[in-house]
Amino acid sequence: MQYREHNETDKRTNLLLLLFALILIAVGGAYLAPLKWPFGLVIFLGFIAMLLLVLAKWQTNKFGYRCPACTHEFDIKMINAFLTPHVWGKKYLKCPECYKSQWAIEIIKIK
Ligand SMILES: [Zn+2]
Repeated sequence: MQYREHNETDKRTNLLLLLFALILIAVGGAYLAPLKWPFGLVIFLGFIAMLLLVLAKWQTNKFGYRCPACTHEFDIKMINAFLTPHVWGKKYLKCPECYKSQWAIEIIKIK
């Protein structure tokens, strides 16, 4: 697997996708909230879970990570995409090479 750095287009696309997901959640909430209790809430939570699943899948397919300690580049599994903390462009991961847990740098996979 080959990787490259983020460029400006990637950053813009990611930001747009994030905004789109937030809008979907807000609109979904506005439509589903007036439904009879607790159906609206249940459907809304299901909807958010589905959206998170799609985002995690997208993240695993699109991104790899680089260890800041040893510069090893690696993929993550979908379960890690869910369970590990993420900030903009970084993710707290354990490097499969040097076994250090650090804020790994997000990079883009080249197919
Ligand atoms: Zn490492």
